Amino acid sequence: MPRFSIPPHTRVATLACVAALGLSACGGSSPDSGASAEGRTTVVAAFYPLAYAAIQVGGDNVDVIDLTPPGAEPHDLELSPAQVAQIAEADLVLYVPGFQPALDDAIDQVAADHALDVTEQIPLLPAEEHSDEQEDDHGDDGHDALAGDPHVWLNPLNMSIIGAEIRDRLATLDPSLQGAVTAGSSDLDVAMTALNDEWLTGTATCRSRDLVVSHEAFAYLAAQYDFAQVGIAGISPETEPSPARLAEIADFVRANGVTTIYYETLVDPKVANTIAAETGATTAVLDPIEGLAEGSTQDYVSLMLANLAAIQSGQGCA
Ligand SMILES: [Zn+2]
Repeated sequence: MPRFSIPPHTRVATLACVAALGLSACGGSSPDSGASAEGRTTVVAAFYPLAYAAIQVGGDNVDVIDLTPPGAEPHDLELSPAQVAQIAEADLVLYVPGFQPALDDAIDQVAADHALDVTEQIPLLPAEEHSDEQEDDHGDDGHDALAGDPHVWLNPLNMSIIGAEIRDRLATLDPSLQGAVTAGSSDLDVAMTALNDEWLTGTATCRSRDLVVSHEAFAYLAAQYDFAQVGIAGISPETEPSPARLAEIADFVRANGVTTIYYETLVDPKVANTIAAETGATTAVLDPIEGLAEGSTQDYVSLMLANLAAIQSGQGCA
């Protein structure tokens, strides 16, 4: 049974048009009137970083709809019937397979011919789950079947690759957009290269290379900037760590002189606080940029720069 057909705890889905960056990204279409109002190209993005990339590449030429509203945690996205209709009628749907099972189901059903797996050109890191993790109540939610770690956007150079994939697909859909999307993708590439350079320089000399984080969202960031990720929970933030896992992390923190436990904006920080209290470490926000906080005026670049500042302080980077 597709997950979206009988929503038992239907969340009131906010159809979050992406209005960040001051672009008028909301088309005039009502939720169920479908894509391509006035002939414009409509892109449905699974969650914020993909919406950000689509806006950078498409600019004013496309309408971008973010399926994950600000304040929501995208791993456990549920879709309203109106959102399923938007997915069906969009010109292009951007997603990361295995990251949001409800969306995977919807794409299988109504969008297989116009969906773009943005990780197609990105070498995936393995999705490692801790063997001692307790099963959460979504034990069959598909995380076991992940082809790889979905959190590719936390390496800016991967965002550049995603931008190029979006460019190619939009130019194929509407050849008149070729010039605009080529320029947009190129600007995104320049910005992501500069961001990567700033991270490389800013993390070149850190006292600690061990990154203790609340959920394992940071493998691509860690690989790119020479950190070792130690996740309290696994790939999905909903997985409750077992008492054994908590004790193991606390031992690791003490043994390796870790001074900062990172937690994130969209997930309850109680586990990070528990370990910090037990070990004398402090806590700091490291944002996996899976979605924007409610009312946020930040964007991908400003959040990545805030993350860099948090790492420099927490890891002792001179
Ligand atoms: Zn995640």
